[in-house]
Amino acid sequence: MTFTEAGARRRDAADPGHRALFHIPPADGGPHDEAAYLAGNSLGLQPRATRADLLGDLDAWARLGVEGHLEADRPWLPYHESLTGGAARLVGALPAEVVVMNSLTVNLHLLMVSFYRPGGARTQILIEDSAFPSDSYAVRSQARFHGLDPDEAVVRLRPRPGEDTLRTEDVVDHLAREGDRVALLLLGGVNYLTGELMDIPAITRAGHAAGALVGWDLAHAAGNVPLALHEWGPDFAAWCSYKYLNSGPGALAGVFVHERHLADPAVQRFEGWWSTDPATRFEMTPVARPPASADAWQVSNPPIYAMGPVRTSLEIFDRVGMPALRARSERLTGYLEQLLDEVVPARPITVVTPRDPARRGSQLSVRIGTGSAHRLAKRLRHEYGVIADAREPDIVRAAPVPLYSSYHDCWRFADALARTIEEVR
Ligand SMILES: *Cc1c(COP(=O)(O)O)cnc(C)c1O
Repeated sequence: MTFTEAGARRRDAADPGHRALFHIPPADGGPHDEAAYLAGNSLGLQPRATRADLLGDLDAWARLGVEGHLEADRPWLPYHESLTGGAARLVGALPAEVVVMNSLTVNLHLLMVSFYRPGGARTQILIEDSAFPSDSYAVRSQARFHGLDPDEAVVRLRPRPGEDTLRTEDVVDHLAREGDRVALLLLGGVNYLTGELMDIPAITRAGHAAGALVGWDLAHAAGNVPLALHEWGPDFAAWCSYKYLNSGPGALAGVFVHERHLADPAVQRFEGWWSTDPATRFEMTPVARPPASADAWQVSNPPIYAMGPVRTSLEIFDRVGMPALRARSERLTGYLEQLLDEVVPARPITVVTPRDPARRGSQLSVRIGTGSAHRLAKRLRHEYGVIADAREPDIVRAAPVPLYSSYHDCWRFADALARTIEEVR
């Protein structure tokens, strides 16, 4: 390769990121101590600060028992409010529009209770054909819940024949043609499989022009690409915090509900005691008084030990800032792309992620033309200490995460991929 390992090291010296803030897993094979971790789009790495923060919350329970609700250093009753500002800045929302709670798919269901209200000829939910399975299952079960046939109510948008990613104009054209039957548009902001970043504002506008409501699954977008949800105006969005947000497996997820819906009594919701105004919560009245904020979508009192890691992570994002992260992401991903371009021509692999940096985040998805993606990923890990992930049947995904990934990680991925593909041919 014309790109050398020494060259990758030089780039790292000039553009080091924030690797020291994170635990990097040890390599499970190969000549290096640390793994080349390119799976942060699947599970982000642990910030070094997380452990002490989490233990602090655990200590408060030991010291205070029930009094921790008010007397802990980070009191439990308003704890979730301490996550709202950071989460809102991350997605470009007003604080009142955001709440951190539950898991992603649970939140999608709670949001569809409010924003998927099929009626008359408007019954369809529009998703992308390569939607993450959980989203597919969620929308199909929502359709059944409303007494509809999911095979008819759920419409899956496919790329053009011979293409791997959706074109914005095709989504917009579909909405212009058939939008009067669409109740809800629910797409991934960054597609989990292809890494394609959708044109969220343009598609949101087209959905609204067609008279549909518009929600976004930002699982692969939050913490990966800059977002301006309030300005772009979707009705709702949801994301998880264990991918680019580094808050740990099964971490609490985020929800955005646009301001226009916050005080609207026509919006239906499933409620519990955490949906009511905290000022009157302990009056124990029989009827909830929800605040005009996304907090009203909460149901239960939240898991305190799950919130510390989200707070720790959001503090890092606040400190570094999305503009700086996006800039480093473009440099790293562009470098990985150049490496793959050198590796690809002689081998049966294709990069399916869009070439235009404006149409992708950190992830590049590689279609391997031969053999099993899972077997390939296993060999990368055990023979080269490279952690990337495989998605059936034939996609290997590599995400250089700008907070902690290095140019050397990218170089190791490309080098190991080239060698491994060479051998399975
Ligand atoms: C990761 C991911 C999920 C995972 O759902 P959980 O409810 O967090 O288990 C769902 N949808 C998309 C698009 C994802 O990328």
